[in-house]
Amino acid sequence: MHKAAIGQGLIGYPEHCSISPDLAWLVAPGEQIRIWRNEGEYAVYTVASVNLADPPGSVRMARAGRERLGTSNTFDGVLDTLVVLTAVDEEQEQEACMNSEFVECLRGSFQNEQLICLAPHGGAIEFETDTEAEMLADLLEVGSWSCKGWRSGGGAFARWHLTSTDINPASFQGLGSLLGTAYARAVAFHGMASPGVLVGGGAAFDERNLVGEYLAQSLAGTGVQVTVATEGDALAGASPANLVNWMCAGNGIQIEQGPQVRYEYAELVVQALAASLEELSG
Ligand SMILES: [Zn+2]
Repeated sequence: MHKAAIGQGLIGYPEHCSISPDLAWLVAPGEQIRIWRNEGEYAVYTVASVNLADPPGSVRMARAGRERLGTSNTFDGVLDTLVVLTAVDEEQEQEACMNSEFVECLRGSFQNEQLICLAPHGGAIEFETDTEAEMLADLLEVGSWSCKGWRSGGGAFARWHLTSTDINPASFQGLGSLLGTAYARAVAFHGMASPGVLVGGGAAFDERNLVGEYLAQSLAGTGVQVTVATEGDALAGASPANLVNWMCAGNGIQIEQGPQVRYEYAELVVQALAASLEELSG
């Protein structure tokens, strides 16, 4: 079950904000909100705490949090509890893309409880990750949940990225609809700035190592280096608060990939995942 990250500070957390006590009837700590500075500047935040000292109607962020909205100053804005749109078909997904929006997409069959494929940072947030989640779900005939964030002119990451340990199903209707299912396993696709592939997640090292071996085999000759994450790695994805882990009782596999891997070798990655997951479940 999801456990909200509450009480962290704001400095060093540009995705976090605090709210004044009167706003707590709108949104609970640990949930997400969208802040509009004006029609062209808006971004999503996680409410980390209630600040008892702030006057009514106040949302507080660190300077880096305000800079996500294009200013380092305080400003009058609008708090929106509608964080993300939910698309029911590809037409609505495309509309969201045209409108520089943030949209969650459920695809495939959710009856199969063996596996759920995830891409919380799809669209232009971390390119190609949603395509990979949907491809893997297709191959294995399971369901996928992806969020796709868009911004014309660039900057989708700054506007829509919510760290995987913060994403709260109370703020994501589609994700919330999956809470009743106890998935045996979850795989999440991510993009990182550095090259290569890092196989993280809460699953046992031996299991992730097997996934890593399949990936290395599939990517042989490309020069892409595959690493199996160990505890100290920054992107290890082992936290129980990471959605890849709480959606499947700790058994998650998180695939972090550099830009080249996602742009050029997405299919090889997905094929390796499908083969290794079949071996793990067999
Ligand atoms: Zn990511």
